[in-house]
Amino acid sequence: MQQNVSMEQLISLCKRRGFIFPGSEIYGGLANAWDFGPLGVALKNNIKRSWWQTFVEERDDIYGLDAALLMNRKVWQASGHESTFSDPLVECKNCHARVRADILLAEAELNKKGGVATLILPADPETQKELLMNEKIKCPSCDIVDWSSPKQFNLMLKTFLGPAEEEANMVYFRPETAQAIFVDFKQIVDTYAPKLPFGIAQIGKAFRNEITPGNFIFRTREFEQMEIEYFIKDSEKWNEHFEIWLKEMNGWMASIGIDMQKVHNLDVPKEELAHYSKRTVDVEFEFPFGRKELFGLAYRGDFDLQSHQKGSGQKLEYFDEETKERMVPHVIEPSMGVERMMLAILASAFREDPLEATPSEASEQEKRIWLDLPMRMAPYKAAVFPLLSNKPELVEKAQEVRKVLQGSWPGFFPVVFDKSGNIGKRYRRQDEIGTPYCFTVDFQTLEDDTITVRDRDTMKQERIAIAHARAFLEEKMKAR
Ligand code: ATP
Repeated sequence: MQQNVSMEQLISLCKRRGFIFPGSEIYGGLANAWDFGPLGVALKNNIKRSWWQTFVEERDDIYGLDAALLMNRKVWQASGHESTFSDPLVECKNCHARVRADILLAEAELNKKGGVATLILPADPETQKELLMNEKIKCPSCDIVDWSSPKQFNLMLKTFLGPAEEEANMVYFRPETAQAIFVDFKQIVDTYAPKLPFGIAQIGKAFRNEITPGNFIFRTREFEQMEIEYFIKDSEKWNEHFEIWLKEMNGWMASIGIDMQKVHNLDVPKEELAHYSKRTVDVEFEFPFGRKELFGLAYRGDFDLQSHQKGSGQKLEYFDEETKERMVPHVIEPSMGVERMMLAILASAFREDPLEATPSEASEQEKRIWLDLPMRMAPYKAAVFPLLSNKPELVEKAQEVRKVLQGSWPGFFPVVFDKSGNIGKRYRRQDEIGTPYCFTVDFQTLEDDTITVRDRDTMKQERIAIAHARAFLEEKMKAR
C-alpha cells in the first residue's frame, strides 16, 4: 500500500516519538545538525547491521574495515579532494545569501521542463553567472536577480592536531569513507591474499561543509556512509559486475522496506561523468520534497589506486598467481548515506488510516498513524502491556513475559514494556514507532498462562500461550 507523506508529517513524528531531535536545541540549535534519539539510534543501527550482514558477513569476498577518521593530509592531496572536491558557490549581491549555482540552475531547468534535470554546468564561472542572470533565476531568500560570479568552494572541513594551530598540523575530517579503503588496500592484500574479484567495505562518519544543507536529514554536514570498493581485473567485464551490484543493492533496499516503486536509476550523462568513470548511476528516490539521489554506483576504473600509488610511492598491486601477472585492479563503488536511507525508509513506511477505517481502540476517536516497517527494521520487535497498571500481579507477570520474549544474546530481541495510559493509547504509541506486535497480560493470563497478541498491520488480536510467544516472534521475524 503506497501513501504519500509530507516532510512536516515525518519531522513531527520523528520529534514526537524520539527518532530525531534538532541538535543543541537548548542553546538555540545549530543549523542542520540533528541528534538521533533512542528510536533513531535503533533504526540506524538496524540499517547498518543489515547492510553489514548482507554485504560483509554473509559473503566470502568482502572484507570489513573501520579506519581512523582523521588521515594524513597527503591522502586528500593524492585523491584529488584537496584541489577539486568543491561546489560552485554564488552570492546574492542584494542579501548576501550563498547558494550552489549548480543546484539553482538544475532546479530552474526542472521548473521549466519537469522530469529530471539534465543540465550540464558550464565550467567557466562567468558563463555560469551569465546563465543565472539570463535565465532570471531569483535568489531563494530575497527574490532578487543579482548574482556574483561563482567561486569553487572546497567542502572539506579542517581542524588541527596538537596544540599549535599551524598549517603543518592541519588535517581534514574525511568527506567520504572510501579513500581509507584504497589506502588500506595493500594491508588487506598482504594479510589475506584475497583472489579477485573481492571487496572492502566500511561504515562510518563523513563530514562535508555543504553550502546548502537542508531537507531534514537528507543533506547535512555530518553524516554516515556505507561504502564498498569492489575490485575486479581490468580484463573482466566491468559492466556485468556493475549490473550485479545494481541488482544486489535493489534487493537489499527492498528487504529493508524501501518502496521500490519510488526508486529510479538515473544514468549520469557521458558529458557529466568524471574523466575516470565509464558509468555512474545515481539511484534516486521520490522523497516528499522531490526526486533526489539516494545513493550512487560508479565504475571508477583504476583511478584511485593509481593516484595513491603515485601519492605514496608504494606499489598498490595485485599479483595473479595463475597468470603470474601484476596489475592495479579496477573498482566498482556502491556508496550510500545511512541517513538518506533512513529518511527513505520512514517515507516508505508512513501510513495514516482514514478516520472511518480507524477502530476505536483508543478512548477517543483519532486517526491511526503507523509505520509499516519490516520487523527487522522496527526499533522494538514487540511491546508488552499489563492490562491495568495498578495491579502489581499483572505488572509483575508482564515483566516476566517481556523477559521471555526478549530472550538473550545472540538471539536477543528488543522488547518494550509500557503501562502508561489505556490500552488503546498504548497501541497507538507502538503503531507510530512501527512495533509489529503488542502482547497484553490480563486476568485470564494469571489463570491459564495465555496472553493476547495484537498485529500492527491488521489490528487483529489472538490469544496464545506464553510458552509459545517467543517461538511466535521468531517465526514472524523470519517472515517479515
Ligand atoms: P549530492 O549530489 O546529493 O551532494 P554526492 O553525489 O555528492 O551527493 P557522493 O559523494 O556520491 O554524493 O556520496 C555518496 C552518498 O553519500 C550519497 O549518495 C548520499 O547517500 C550520501 N551523502 C553525500 N553527501 C551527503 C550529505 N551532505 N548528507 C547526507 N548524506 C550524504
